[in-house]
Amino acid sequence: MAVGVLALQGDFAAHAAVLRRLGESVLEVRSWTDLAGLRALVLPGGESTALLRLMDGGPWFDALRAFHGGGGGLLGTCAGAILLARDVDPAQPSLGLLDVSISRNAYGRQVDSFEAELDASALDDPLLGVFIRAPRFTAIGPQVHVLARRGGEPVLVRQRRVLAATFHPEIAGDDRVHRMLIEISAGTAPAG
Ligand code: GLN
Repeated sequence: MAVGVLALQGDFAAHAAVLRRLGESVLEVRSWTDLAGLRALVLPGGESTALLRLMDGGPWFDALRAFHGGGGGLLGTCAGAILLARDVDPAQPSLGLLDVSISRNAYGRQVDSFEAELDASALDDPLLGVFIRAPRFTAIGPQVHVLARRGGEPVLVRQRRVLAATFHPEIAGDDRVHRMLIEISAGTAPAG
């Protein structure tokens, strides 16, 4: 079964390249009907408002919730994490598949982008985080496990089959986050 990458907008090509490097067959998902038959899906970074506009033309939210309910694994990075969250600040529609609150563009305009070494004991440290107009998790529900932190703040989290990062693992040359998605969707990752 293939792994999908939502290819409406943003840096989907970089995610597809990582997954292919890991030996996966990859489908660039441009229609909600493409979700049938996938075992995992990446929601890439980009601009969440633009993604929402592009999703307006079809029942994307229903299809993504059904995909999750049917056992599919999800990885959202940056704008993708914003789409997965329960609450977004400033308020905008979201899937609510991850019990977190998230604040968009939370590092301010002056600090547009930066790199930082992350504390990622769950992934055998260290991990490089590339942050681009990044959001911040501002509240984390009781079912959500923190897998990596920057300066004490959660930046990579997991709730069962949902992974979300406020940074961009696809451009740091490190495949561990994607490998975790594959293990989660194959049922070979530890429970989380
Ligand atoms: N600032 C973007 C948003 O709010 C996210 C940035 C990114 O995905 N790199 O959707």
